[in-house]
Amino acid sequence: PQPTLAVVGRPNVGKSTLVNRILGRREAVVQDVPGVTRDRVAYDALWNGRRFTVLDTGGWEPDAQGLQAAVAAQAELAMSTADAILLVVDATVGATTTDEAVAKVLRRSKRPVLLCANKVDDERLMADVASLWSLGLGEPMPVSALHGRGSGDLLDAVLNAL
Ligand code: GDP
Ligand code: MG
Repeated sequence: PQPTLAVVGRPNVGKSTLVNRILGRREAVVQDVPGVTRDRVAYDALWNGRRFTVLDTGGWEPDAQGLQAAVAAQAELAMSTADAILLVVDATVGATTTDEAVAKVLRRSKRPVLLCANKVDDERLMADVASLWSLGLGEPMPVSALHGRGSGDLLDAVLNAL
C-alpha cells in the first residue's frame, strides 16, 4: 500500500486548496464557508514519480462549537492513520489558540509532522511565517496554495518525510 499524508488544521486555513495543489487538479472541495462535511477525503497523488495518498480532513470538520477539541481529535486520528502529517496554519492570521492546541497534540506524534504556513501570497508575509516557529514543530514552510508559491519545496519535504 502507498504511504499516506494527512492534512490537518483549522477550518478555512486552505487545506482543501492545498490538497488540490498537491494533486494538480481540483478534486477536494474548497469552501468559502468553513465546516461543510463531505464524504470523500482520500485522494491519489503523484510527485517526482512517487505515489502517495492524501487525506483532506475537511470532512471531519465540526461546527464552531467545540472547535478546539474537534481539531485535536482530528490530529489524533491523523496520528493513528497517516505516515506523515501536514499541519496547515494561516500565516495571515498567525498561530491561534486552536493551532497551539493541535500543535501540542502533534508534538507527541511518532510520525513526522510538517508545518505549512499557507496564504503566503507575497514576500511581505515572511515575518509572520517566522513567528510560527513558536508552535514547536520546526521550520514553517511558506506556501500559497492559491497561487502555487512554495508548493514544490513543500512536496519535496513531504516525500522526504513519507
Ligand atoms: P479548508 O477549510 O482549510 O479546507 O480551506 P479551503 O481550502 O476551503 O479554503 C478556505 C478559503 O481560503 C478559500 O476562500 C480559499 O480560496 C482561501 N485560500 C486557500 N489558500 C489560499 C492562499 O494560499 N491564499 C489566499 N489568499 N487564500 C487562500
Ligand atoms: Mg476543506
